[in-house]
Amino acid sequence: MQSGTVYLVGAGPGDPDLLTLRAARLLANARLVIHDGLVDPAILALAPADAELVSVAKRRARHTLPQDEINALMVREARAGRDVVRLKGGDPLVFGRGGEEAEACRAAGVPVEIVPGISAANGAAAAAQIALTHRDASSVVSFVAGQCKGLAEQDWAGLAGKGRTLVIYMGVKTAPQIAEKLIDDGLSPAMPLAVIENACRPNMRVLRGPLAALPELVARERVKSPALIVIGEVAAREDAALALVAAEVAR
Ligand code: SAH
Repeated sequence: MQSGTVYLVGAGPGDPDLLTLRAARLLANARLVIHDGLVDPAILALAPADAELVSVAKRRARHTLPQDEINALMVREARAGRDVVRLKGGDPLVFGRGGEEAEACRAAGVPVEIVPGISAANGAAAAAQIALTHRDASSVVSFVAGQCKGLAEQDWAGLAGKGRTLVIYMGVKTAPQIAEKLIDDGLSPAMPLAVIENACRPNMRVLRGPLAALPELVARERVKSPALIVIGEVAAREDAALALVAAEVAR
């Protein structure tokens, strides 16, 4: 029997309008969708009503389906001749294990196509009007993962600071350790940051403060995942822009 194709599809950060046309078309024609917990219900609703939807939702430290079982499921279905839309939050290749899933398909001889999505960093930056690069403030952007496992071993030295933007995924739970780690690395406790929770969703919040206040900000505002932390001078620029607008209005 001819194998189906596995499509590793980026669902973007939330708003269905931020899907690529290719993602929307694949979804509209899907028979089987295997999706993560982060994918918005409004996006799943784009699949035909009779399509099979399988959730492999991951919660920190409580994986409903271990990664090798997800891989096995995709491969099994494709080998049975079904096309599989494997829908993942943001971009499949940014902290999404898309690389592992593509490798598993290739190893099994199953055709795989990867459809990019808007990663949380890009979505959040646009929604909060924070330029990740800016000629006056930053010419380097780094994406790091701030989850517990291995945080202490990760070398972030030089990724944040003057002229740089650091975007931290999965950093809500470890916010205190993140602030400590960066300050130990020599970053100014006054370095501006923004926490963007539920970017590109109706309940988005953008919180700002200096690096030293990150743990308190996250605790006081009860920030919940999904949220991104953006650290660098660019995180303070929108305030300046707003102040300018306010001054214009006052005039
Ligand atoms: N592949 C995804 C990232 C998966 S890791 C991507 O490219 O965006 C999951 C982390 O992404 C979350 O812990 C959070 O840090 C971030 N994230 C995903 N969606 C988000 C959203 N709508 N708003 C803020 N952060 C988000």
